[in-house]
Amino acid sequence: MNILEVRNLKKSFGSIQAVKDISFSVKEGEIFTIIGPNGAGKTTTLEMIEGLVTPDHGEIQFGELNWNKHAITIKKKIGVQPQSSAMFDLLTPEENLNLFATFYDKARSTEEILKLVNLTEHRKNQVKKLSGGQRQRLAIGLAMISDPEVVFLDEPTTGLDPQARRNVWEIILELKKLGKTIILTTHYMEEAEKLSDRVCIVDQGLIVTLDSPTGLIEKLTNEREVRLSFLDGEKAAFDAELFAKALDSVTRTEREDAALKLWTIKPEDLLFDLFKFTKDKEYQVEQVSIHEMSLEDVFIAYTGKAWRD
Ligand code: ATP
Repeated sequence: MNILEVRNLKKSFGSIQAVKDISFSVKEGEIFTIIGPNGAGKTTTLEMIEGLVTPDHGEIQFGELNWNKHAITIKKKIGVQPQSSAMFDLLTPEENLNLFATFYDKARSTEEILKLVNLTEHRKNQVKKLSGGQRQRLAIGLAMISDPEVVFLDEPTTGLDPQARRNVWEIILELKKLGKTIILTTHYMEEAEKLSDRVCIVDQGLIVTLDSPTGLIEKLTNEREVRLSFLDGEKAAFDAELFAKALDSVTRTEREDAALKLWTIKPEDLLFDLFKFTKDKEYQVEQVSIHEMSLEDVFIAYTGKAWRD
């Protein structure tokens, strides 16, 4: 069942068309990710759905509810991760959560939220003394205090180191286990790939493509990239490339010194033929790997641009 429908959203700031025309629906209980480069229109889209920015055009429906007629009911259903600046730096996580809880008729217990976002140990430290990752976890906790059905997280891991980012991912997956619907924006392809049920790639205010991470990758191609390197150096790689180019199963090749990259829809057949060739020639293969396509490859294929974090 769809919990949210967004149709033909548009928003301009002066001459800048931040969101040109965006439509999608979000299913109950899924992690739906909007990914795109800087300035793609992710935050503006999210803020329109959250009721913080008024669209120039388009419709936003939470089931039967819309912002014009049912703003109070929608506010009770959604939780928005506050910006760091909205937290009280001189208060502790516990005090921030208690304070935010007073804004709502019904709130989850502070103790429960601290446990959920793994901050029980730090509950009595001032927020200004917390690390970036701990602050982001507190922000997620603050979004959860009203026990919302839909949680909005705008770039929850930007600027965090890889370990802190993984800790936030674990919490997001916990929220999903609790049955929450999560709408997330991110710059990070790996994050979208790891967390999302569906990913919507946006660029310049428009949706480039939308599907599950595996669906996006499969739709694009069944090709795999086979990487090899040779102990015998450049000459072996050069010969192997010539041999591979003549095979029907190989669509493209690339070589740098003793390292070779081959693209094929039949990696097993290719490796079989190639190993036969290297054995005949007595070349020694140092390393072999089959590289899966990633969301990054999908982005490049759809937009023709390299991904920038
Ligand atoms: P980022 O990843 O950098 O946060 P984003 O994908 O979230 O980018 P938005 O913040 O939605 O993108 O911005 C889209 C475009 O709209 C940008 O060109 C931005 O400068 C512009 N923009 C956003 N908000 C405003 C505003 N309040 N006034 C003027 N321009 C704005």
